[in-house]
Amino acid sequence: MQTTTVKAFGTEAAEAPLKTLNIERRAVMPSDVEIEILYCGICHSDLHAARNEWMNTVYPIVPGHEIVGRVTQVGDAVAKFKPGDLAAVGCLVDSCRECEYCREGLEQFCEPGATLTFNSPDKFIDGQQTYGGYSQSVVVDERFVLSVPESLDPAAAAPLLCAGITTYSPLRHWNVGPGTKVGVVGLGGLGHMAIKLAKAMGAEVTVFTTSPSKVEDAKRLGADDVVLSRDEEQMAAHANTLNFILDAVSAPHDINAYLGLLRADGTLVLVGAPLEPLPVVSFNLILGRKSFAGSPIGGLPETQEMLDFCAEHNVVPDIELIGVDDVNDAYERLLKGDVRYRFVIDMKTLN
Ligand SMILES: [Zn+2]
Ligand SMILES: [Zn+2]
Repeated sequence: MQTTTVKAFGTEAAEAPLKTLNIERRAVMPSDVEIEILYCGICHSDLHAARNEWMNTVYPIVPGHEIVGRVTQVGDAVAKFKPGDLAAVGCLVDSCRECEYCREGLEQFCEPGATLTFNSPDKFIDGQQTYGGYSQSVVVDERFVLSVPESLDPAAAAPLLCAGITTYSPLRHWNVGPGTKVGVVGLGGLGHMAIKLAKAMGAEVTVFTTSPSKVEDAKRLGADDVVLSRDEEQMAAHANTLNFILDAVSAPHDINAYLGLLRADGTLVLVGAPLEPLPVVSFNLILGRKSFAGSPIGGLPETQEMLDFCAEHNVVPDIELIGVDDVNDAYERLLKGDVRYRFVIDMKTLN
């Protein structure tokens, strides 16, 4: 396989800061799209992977799966893209394409396992891992490339590729719309997207946060009601009121307190991922025929649908645009929850 050397920003060890590296990208094959990366969002997964917190990182690693850029080159068989198009790549860059899930466009559930945008074995370059979006360019099969409507701000659109689809997919799957009373637990990168998307779908949104300092912001983002989750009286006043809860908290917390807020047939969906088990009291599910569920990203067709929905409804994340030299500091701020609400790297700063 012919390759080209491009600049990237990554790390060679868990304890080392990220720095400029050279990586190899494959030459464009017939169904490939080459994208010059303009912006890449920072997701908490980037930090987990860079620091080997999930114990599966192969170094060097180049994180980044919220990628927006311009198409610079396409292979002979590419039909959907041409040079100059605004395009995006999310969490997946390949899959088996043949299993039941891939055939349905649910590549996130690919049975042999999809190829993640970073830290997955590269199918085309022997002995190499995939490298993510903290880099100058990327080469991806067109099936895994999204079209970005020109009306979206390309920098603000970047976090839609992970934070956006992670919240959009469960809202759609559980048919949130006008008349649905939605609870959003946790106001971070995912939670703030959930508010904007659920409101754009026509739902009524109540936000649950532990931070009094976030009440005003939740309202600014569109929440109809905000509840301080440590205030038992406020929580009790909302018992049996919600049809659907999106739980975006990744720290340990009491799920039973939230199951009690659901009406009968209501569903609580986890999109945050606490590492410790979350004990559930069985009667909190049984008595109201309630569901406790989880949801990861989304497939390619649904990710495209989400981008088109966001363009139509003018929904984009609140971002803080940074340069590559700020990435290591941004990771520290991410650990403190000090970002409103998503960092996006201006990849021009890599030059
Ligand atoms: Zn992510
Ligand atoms: Zn598959």
